[in-house]
Amino acid sequence: MSKIVVIGGSFAGITGALEARRKLGSQHEVTLISRSDSFVYIPSLIWVPFGWRNVKDISVPLRPVLEKHGVKFVQTEVTKVDPEQNRVITKGGDLDYDYLLVASGVSTRFDLIEGLGPDKNTYSVCTPGHAEHAREGWQKLIDDPGPVVVGASQGASCMGAGYEFLFNLEYAARQAGIRDRVDITWITPEPFLAHFGIGGMAGGEAMLKSFMKMFNINFVVNSEIDNVTEDAVILKNGRRLPYKYSMIIPPFNGARFVKESGGLGDEKGFIPVDDTYRHKKYPNVFAAGLAVAVPPPFATPVALGVPKTGFPSEESAKIASHNIAHLIHGEAEKLKTKPWGKIPGLCVMDAGHKEVVIVSNHLLKPRQFAIMVPNPLVNIGKRLLEKYFLWKTRRGLSYLL
Ligand SMILES: Cc1cc2nc3c(=O)[nH]c(=O)nc-3n(C[C@H](O)[C@H](O)[C@H](O)COP(=O)(O)OP(=O)(O)OC[C@H]3O[C@@H](n4cnc5c(N)ncnc54)[C@H](O)[C@@H]3O)c2cc1C
Repeated sequence: MSKIVVIGGSFAGITGALEARRKLGSQHEVTLISRSDSFVYIPSLIWVPFGWRNVKDISVPLRPVLEKHGVKFVQTEVTKVDPEQNRVITKGGDLDYDYLLVASGVSTRFDLIEGLGPDKNTYSVCTPGHAEHAREGWQKLIDDPGPVVVGASQGASCMGAGYEFLFNLEYAARQAGIRDRVDITWITPEPFLAHFGIGGMAGGEAMLKSFMKMFNINFVVNSEIDNVTEDAVILKNGRRLPYKYSMIIPPFNGARFVKESGGLGDEKGFIPVDDTYRHKKYPNVFAAGLAVAVPPPFATPVALGVPKTGFPSEESAKIASHNIAHLIHGEAEKLKTKPWGKIPGLCVMDAGHKEVVIVSNHLLKPRQFAIMVPNPLVNIGKRLLEKYFLWKTRRGLSYLL
């Protein structure tokens, strides 16, 4: 019997554990560890500040789904992995493994910039708690409107969520009848609008520039934040952007325990893997989703990371767990390879009562096919995707797209 341990109970972890279970007979043991008892559909967190979703509406309890499909669930926090001893150390005790899949996502690095983050001066929508806190701030802004600064800091990789929040805030301000008193500025480390950390797409920059003009939003590209005071974002070039409400996406590192785990991660706590999602040093360790180290294949004047969205997170987890099953079955010659950048791109950007559908044959350049299709009339795509993901997750249908 082989023991497979998966760390993480989100897009990559659930998919990896259920797919490992599906590909392996019941004589093997699959265990998923997560510190949270629920899966939260993170893409919908951008709606929480405006009261359009509550966190409970987008949450799925993990235990019933996993246990129904024969996956053991352990709710605890991993504090360290000892890859030399094949052991996961948690707050609830140690677990030994034959194969490990690390799908533990990221940690936020607000500490890199003075005054940044929900404990200091800016809001965030990166976690359920952050999004609920951002709602409190939004309510205050409705009562006492003023300038808004939305953006991403240097080194950030989740630009799409920042844009979505920006356009939804603009729409919410109109709905609340305060737009005339809310001057909005978007700041981004991207060298041009719609670079997205993937090198951009044909027509993308022009499309987002026209959105900015249409909705009267100021923007600053190549921006680097020096510090954030109680009432202004100060850029490195000295420019001062006053605000009453600010939401800034921070840079990410890998999960904190990775740094405590010897040679498991790189200097930022991401897991270095080959194209089979197998660790470069430990052959029985795999990684998927946000946890994977993906060096940017481009150079930009201001540091910018590669986005790791839901679809490639699940895709990398499927490849990793199928490869674990091949190794257990003695089929090393069947290992599947697909570099992160060659996974297809599939995303819907909600732009506040309008949307942009983004499809490409490869996430990163070179691509043979890449298209951004605007739908200026209604934002239905992201809501349908949310319903589909929650339906699929509740039923444990990990093999679906
Ligand atoms: C605001 C926002 C909006 C987004 N919008 C979109 C979108 O519209 N479309 C899209 O495709 N993508 C979107 N993304 C990206 C998407 O959320 C990620 O691709 C996805 O969450 C990655 O899944 P993951 O499983 O790799 O990691 P995560 O979702 O980060 O999950 C990590 C898991 O590991 C667990 N964990 C972490 N550390 C420990 C530990 N020490 N012990 C135990 N468990 C641990 C966590 O509890 C969690 O279950 C968005 C991201 C954000 C922040």
